[in-house]
Amino acid sequence: KFVTFEGPDGSGKTSVLREITAGFVQRHFDNYLLTREPGGNRIAEKIRNIILDKELNEMDARTEALLYAASRRQHLVETVIPALESGRLVFCDRYVDSSIVYQGAGRRLGEDAVARMNAFATENLLPDLTLYFDVPPEIGLKRIVNFRSNEVNRLDQESLTFHKTVHEAYLRLAKKEKRIITIDASQPFHTVVDEALKQLKLALPN
Ligand code: C5P
Ligand code: MG
Repeated sequence: KFVTFEGPDGSGKTSVLREITAGFVQRHFDNYLLTREPGGNRIAEKIRNIILDKELNEMDARTEALLYAASRRQHLVETVIPALESGRLVFCDRYVDSSIVYQGAGRRLGEDAVARMNAFATENLLPDLTLYFDVPPEIGLKRIVNFRSNEVNRLDQESLTFHKTVHEAYLRLAKKEKRIITIDASQPFHTVVDEALKQLKLALPN
């Protein structure tokens, strides 16, 4: 099974993912892969470095969207698909939904256009389950300022308006797609972890 974690900046999805794979997954599924986007292998990591480089401010929005899709493609064929084929449970930090909301809505390329471009890149491979960690941008951004002010990249420099657009697009997508389950990530960390575990157990029995 292929499970993706999605959410705005500061939703805490990466920390939740780490917590879950440290506990639940080791007890219940000893055979899993924890990976992230963009990146995950040599080529995809190189593309990631171009995407996040804060010197490259002149990057065009379509170039950015294509680089994300290229990185995703390589990550998918080289890392994710082989793991799925060998029967592993794959947890991925971000996937196509991130591009739909960040590049499609945030950068105004159009959610449908970005979805179509990603359908080409992924040959329509979508996750079995997506946990969406919902947090209003005001709270998410405050968390980032408090906890990760040291690792600022090119994409961390966006306005509140950008983040609001991204958030609204996530809500629209979550409403539209049955595979997406929304978790209120403004709750205390351990409540969020518990809820994520509950949803995983429901969706992936055994
Ligand atoms: O939250 P995470 O560390 O995974 O994301 C890294 C950065 O990349 C974030 O600032 C996020 O806003 C941005 N991003 C993006 N478009 C994507 C995926 C991530 O702008 N498709
Ligand atoms: Mg993160």
